[in-house]
Amino acid sequence: MRKKIVAANWKMNLNLEEGKKLVDGIIAGMPTLNEQKEVVIAPPFVHLAQTAGQLQGKAHIYLGAQNCYSETAGAYTGEISASMLKSVGTAYVIIGHSERREYFKEDNAMLAKKTDQGLANGLKVIFCCGEPLEVRDADTQNAYVEKQIKEGLFHLDAAQLKNIVIAYEPIWAIGTGRTASAQQAQDMHAHIRAVIAAQYGKDTADNMSILYGGSCKPSNAAELFACADVDGGLIGGASLKADEFLGIIDAMIKA
Ligand code: PEP
Repeated sequence: MRKKIVAANWKMNLNLEEGKKLVDGIIAGMPTLNEQKEVVIAPPFVHLAQTAGQLQGKAHIYLGAQNCYSETAGAYTGEISASMLKSVGTAYVIIGHSERREYFKEDNAMLAKKTDQGLANGLKVIFCCGEPLEVRDADTQNAYVEKQIKEGLFHLDAAQLKNIVIAYEPIWAIGTGRTASAQQAQDMHAHIRAVIAAQYGKDTADNMSILYGGSCKPSNAAELFACADVDGGLIGGASLKADEFLGIIDAMIKA
């Protein structure tokens, strides 16, 4: 059975003290999780060691990073390798967020290499995909997302794919307050699962967690997570307040 996951992406927010307080608040209110229901917290790099300490001994709450570099080590000033992430206790790495694609010009070929680095270093990869508004308006979103997945992931074998979680994040819904409708999310998630099934078989596709991201809040999470192919969420803005994030976790647990 595939896992339900709620993952926090803090982006470039919060200093160390603010981050500590937020994690303390999340831990204090955390309901009981289990093997099938996980929470991931992906703070900025400088928080990782501190957050790792706070999460120590907490079952089913994992540390995530927001990015890693596409090379193993060496003269890449300012970059962070997947093995460094692993060494501080990181379990997940987010790859291919639309902000990385847009502002840092990360293309599918680079994201495929970053995915390889994550997997080679024992990290699970949350691979993001999603279309801009003009693509949605032209109703060509299925082909657009399919290309991102094929070019970013289809060099992997089925065993490697077990350590991939896909996050569908329509760019027009990220940080805009405009959420995809439950039907729009379900339609795309079903399409992504069909794309995976066509390449890797139904079992692999059925076992893959596919998260929705884009203005997900406590008020809309239950409806989104009730969709058959939506296995949780990647949460930006609403992950910065403990009560809101806990409300979304609650919706995942009840779904
Ligand atoms: C994100 O950037 O991954 C995201 C989903 O952001 P928000 O929840 O703020 O739309």
